[in-house]
Amino acid sequence: MLKKKINKLLIGTNNKGKLREIKDLLPKYIKTFSTLDFKINSPRESGKTFKDNSLIKSKYFSKKTNLMCLADDSGLEIDILNKRPGIYSARWGGRNSDFGKAIKKVYRELNKKNKDWKKRKIKAQFVCALSICYLNKKIACVIGSVEGSISEKPKGKNGFGYDPIFIPKNKNKTFGEMRPSQKYKLDHRYKAFKKIKKFL
Ligand code: IMP
Repeated sequence: MLKKKINKLLIGTNNKGKLREIKDLLPKYIKTFSTLDFKINSPRESGKTFKDNSLIKSKYFSKKTNLMCLADDSGLEIDILNKRPGIYSARWGGRNSDFGKAIKKVYRELNKKNKDWKKRKIKAQFVCALSICYLNKKIACVIGSVEGSISEKPKGKNGFGYDPIFIPKNKNKTFGEMRPSQKYKLDHRYKAFKKIKKFL
C-alpha cells in the first residue's frame, strides 16, 4: 500500500528561531502552520528527557488544533556542569526567555565550577528531540546531537539562544558567527530531521 504523504503540518514551537530553522528543513510541498498563528501557549514541560518533552508538546498542540504536529525539544548539555542546562536550557533565560541572561548564567556556573575553565576545552553538545504526533498517537520520535565546546566569550549575532557561545567540533567559529545556511547543515536539529524525514 502506498504511504500517504503528509501535506499539512503544524510546527509546534513558539520560538521564532526554531520555527525558521524547522520551516527551512521541511519539503516545500508541505503546508506549514505555526503555534504562533494559533496563539497557543506552550504546555508545561514536565518530562525528564528531551524525548518526553517533545512528545508532550506535539500531542498537546495536535489536540489543540486537530492537525498533525512536529515539535522539538532541545538544549545545550555542558559536560563539566553535569549536562546542565540540558532540558532546562530555555528556563535558564527566565520568564522572558532572555538568551543574554541564560548565557551569563552559563559563565557564572562555569566560574563556580572552576575559575580556570578558560584554560581547558569545555566540552558540550546541543541535543534535539523531534516528534510527530497526531492527537494522542505517536508517529515518530527521534534524537540528534552535535558535539562542540564553549567559547570563552559570546561571539556573533546570528541565530538564537546559546548560538554565540557554541563552537561545533572541528570548526573555529561559534554558531552565532555562522551564516544560517552553514549552521543548519551541522546542527542537532538537522541531524534529528534527517532521521524523521522518512515519516513525512
Ligand atoms: P525548548 O526546547 O523550547 O525547551 O527550548 C530549548 C532552548 O535550548 C532554547 O530556548 C535555546 O535556549 C536552546 N537551544 C535549542 N536549540 C538551540 C540552537 O540551535 N541554538 C541555540 N540555542 C538552542
